[in-house]
Amino acid sequence: MKYYLGIYGCQMNISDAERAAAVLEQLNYKRTLNINEADLILVTMCSIRQSAVDRIHGLVDKFDVIKKSKPKLKTILTGCVLKRDKKIFVEGFDYVLDIKDIKRIPELLGVKKTLRLRSGQGKNQTDYLDITPKYENKFSANVPIMTGCNNFCSYCVVPYVREREISRPAKDIILEIKKLVKGGYKEIWLLGQNVNSYKDTSTGSEQANTFPKLLKMVNNIPGNFWIRFTSSHPKDFSEELIEAMAICEKVKPYLNLPIQSGDDKVIKAMNRHYTVESYKNKIKKLRKKIPDIALSTDIIVGFPGETKTQFNNTVKLFRDIKYDLGYISKYSPRAGTTAAKLKDNISTEEKKRREKVLTDVLKQTALEKNKKLIDTETTVLINEPKNDFWLGKDQHYRTIKVYPKSPSSKIKIGQFIKSKIIAVTPFTLSAEEM
Ligand code: SF4
Repeated sequence: MKYYLGIYGCQMNISDAERAAAVLEQLNYKRTLNINEADLILVTMCSIRQSAVDRIHGLVDKFDVIKKSKPKLKTILTGCVLKRDKKIFVEGFDYVLDIKDIKRIPELLGVKKTLRLRSGQGKNQTDYLDITPKYENKFSANVPIMTGCNNFCSYCVVPYVREREISRPAKDIILEIKKLVKGGYKEIWLLGQNVNSYKDTSTGSEQANTFPKLLKMVNNIPGNFWIRFTSSHPKDFSEELIEAMAICEKVKPYLNLPIQSGDDKVIKAMNRHYTVESYKNKIKKLRKKIPDIALSTDIIVGFPGETKTQFNNTVKLFRDIKYDLGYISKYSPRAGTTAAKLKDNISTEEKKRREKVLTDVLKQTALEKNKKLIDTETTVLINEPKNDFWLGKDQHYRTIKVYPKSPSSKIKIGQFIKSKIIAVTPFTLSAEEM
């Protein structure tokens, strides 16, 4: 029996799919990358954008075709599914399942099987995280530290699909990471919708484990590996966390801190609870402690009512901060959110224009910064072979093409390679193996 995974969305959805895959493997299903030969198709859905939801509709159309040659095909939808969409997709899928219920897959498929769990605690919503994942990657692992979100940013569906924040016990996280490091993993991504508000009260002691404490605990695990984390909410990005990032040598100098807009009124309308000034102050403190930190942000252009002046404040912020990377998206309303009740009054053309203006500023500032890196050394974690070079990310999460120093070079996927930067573009650097 074969299963096919349709993974849509963020790293958390990849991580969820890894746990669902582990359940299926325990039922003796084998993974196939060819959807047409699957006996079971499991999809982890993303509801962040309508385009992602539309892709699932496209997939459902495919099922009817596959079912002609595989009448017993089973299909499961899980991940971030809005209540409204659950009702719609119940028609197209055999089962629509909350992600926290993936332990029920054997029962749904009519198989009697007791799943092997890591800790077997199983007392709260993070239960499904007890399942030892079937990791997608052999050297970089996603490790969820919490699920859910309490923030209700006005444009976002996540709190509706993942419900409130629940932190995973630190000891379970440490156990998982220790095993990964022992197994040769070189990069650990700590995941959560807002890792900065991680709070593990499971120890029963008065002092809960906070995110800075967790970072230090992970940093203390012996081994040669990098620590990264996402996502961070600026309102919860604390000085204590800056301190922890600065002293933990395994936490690499890269931070994604989504500001979403460079205008206070728009930030307020987004229900984000910080100001441009408070954000900039935090960046200033961070750069003081970690001068070479690489920064990225997320921006929504064309939020309802965003005036040209307000957009220009975001442009100004981009010029001031000089980000290394930016994830710029055009606003689109998501049903059920409070922003969806506002008039989506910025035309598609204008949203595209704003996206381009910001991208151009970003390219310019990133290129200026990258030019200063020529002839400097960096360490690259290799993740993909190409024709005449290897692709990887360095400590600062920069994309680097590494050219081998000789035809007999022994570069491999999942290796740290010392390299010297020889050429740059705004978002990709070229380097020679040293
Ligand atoms: S912090 Fe805001 S944007 Fe992030 S998941 Fe929560 S509601 Fe969505």
